[in-house]
Amino acid sequence: MLICRTGAEIRDFVRQARAAGKTVGLVPTMGYFHEGHLSLMREARKSCAAVVVSLYVNPMQFGPREDLARYPKDFGRDCAMARQVGVDAIFAPSDREMYPDGFSTCVEVTGMTDKLCGLSRPGHFRGVTTVVAKLFNLVTPDQAFFGRKDAQQALVIERMVRDLNMGLEVVTLPTVREEDGLAMSSRNIYLDPGQRREATVLYRSLRAFREAVKRGERDAGRLRGIMVDMIAGARGAGIEYVEILSVPDLQPLEVINGRVVAALAVRFGKTRLIDNTVMEV
Ligand code: AMP
Repeated sequence: MLICRTGAEIRDFVRQARAAGKTVGLVPTMGYFHEGHLSLMREARKSCAAVVVSLYVNPMQFGPREDLARYPKDFGRDCAMARQVGVDAIFAPSDREMYPDGFSTCVEVTGMTDKLCGLSRPGHFRGVTTVVAKLFNLVTPDQAFFGRKDAQQALVIERMVRDLNMGLEVVTLPTVREEDGLAMSSRNIYLDPGQRREATVLYRSLRAFREAVKRGERDAGRLRGIMVDMIAGARGAGIEYVEILSVPDLQPLEVINGRVVAALAVRFGKTRLIDNTVMEV
């Protein structure tokens, strides 16, 4: 497995792969891998002849009071895990490589980024779309793989790819969970044992949402109420948002219909967890 630190190196790797007639898959990540990341890499391995994983904690997508400085890192372990699932190249650039002096261009998807995580993390999605557009330009993948765990992010990237004619396929894959339902996340290690136990309320509330819909409930206010009441009952849980929106446009709904997402962000102490479920009604 090749480790590339510069844009020139990863471009060179891709040029050689293409010269050998290979399709290229990209899995963008911030590292500290878990099964969720590995599921994306395995899928990329199945569908593409050359698999590139980018590993970059992008400062542009963190707010000034967020966890950029303490974001977990273990490059050696990440490389070993990626190698084991058959990744061909890791692209792990420095901040200077990604944002050299004088950097002044942003990519921004409007409308669908001003809600959910976009509301509580202003500028977050501008950072995401800018860095992902840079990665797409460097790697020129045929397919790029994202997790539904970050449902809004995947929808925003699909919109960017469509709007800017980026000519690649965005593949969105299911959320990988711990046995008790908690969505895997690099941030789960911040939770103390008590918080870890209570954190299953995210999944439980999404399951309660799905069950209520299956029983015939269509009123978005009442469905939201079911989730809010449940989360409020968990010790130490602070709700940032609980929303039910249309997919893919992320418009608010009074009565649910068609494809919908129930999405939530909940804080336990300083740790912010997100989760969601998508349903066809
Ligand atoms: P991150 O390193 O957190 O930026 O995540 C990199 C990619 O992995 C994103 O596309 C995420 O949506 C995806 N991902 C993170 N957690 C999970 C999970 N539990 N299941 C599936 N995909 C995930």
